Amino acid sequence: MYELKICHLYPDILNLYGDRGNIICMQKRMEWRGIKAEVTGISVGDALNYDDYDIFFIGGGQDFEQGVLLKDLADGKAKAIRAAVEEEKVFLAICGGYQMLGSYYKTWDGKQCDFIGALDLYTVGHKDRMIGNYMYQCSEEDGGIVVVGFENHSGKTYLGDKVRPMGKVLSGNGNNGEDGTEGARYKNVFATYSHGSLLPKNPKLADYILKTALKRKYPNINLEELDDTFENNAHDYMEHRLSPK
Ligand code: GLN
Repeated sequence: MYELKICHLYPDILNLYGDRGNIICMQKRMEWRGIKAEVTGISVGDALNYDDYDIFFIGGGQDFEQGVLLKDLADGKAKAIRAAVEEEKVFLAICGGYQMLGSYYKTWDGKQCDFIGALDLYTVGHKDRMIGNYMYQCSEEDGGIVVVGFENHSGKTYLGDKVRPMGKVLSGNGNNGEDGTEGARYKNVFATYSHGSLLPKNPKLADYILKTALKRKYPNINLEELDDTFENNAHDYMEHRLSPK
């Protein structure tokens, strides 16, 4: 019996805009295929034995919640997360969770949050927020998948040389509303601003991430296709709505 173990980091603190829906989507898309999906919530004060898990999920959070986590990260989780990233564990990080993987986030009112430093990027907050439905296309290395989502962030994220963008913005702001990039990719980390939640209406991306984790654990596994009529209808409606007329 195939099995994937999912670590949901800070589920009680980082869960804006239904980001927990990504966990439910991953669980369901595996259970529909007869693959066991075990989810463990790890929050403040909990030990993180990163080698126990195959996929890590970090949702979004307000500046305040991100600040609350600084001590817990410094007490050991940041080191464990850096090690998990370098050992090519799969991560899906959304908005605030994405920002936290970088070196720092300076909030719009000037608070410096020195974060995990797992990805070569940093974020600077601004008084004006970037809010709305948006759309981006993943890089060819990741299949050129078109992703529809919802963004709400004050932070502008800038990528360093050691990471590549998750994709290019087709509609909306993305990382910073300036350089046309959205999200970040490094090893098996998928980081994006896309709330919504992201995965239910982006089934191709959901399966790409799941396949990445499954292939790492079971190199010869084949993932059967699901009937994604309903999911693709939702995706295609938003893609049409967000495409230039
Ligand atoms: N607090 C961060 C920002 O405002 C992240 C917000 C979020 O996770 N939606 O940019």
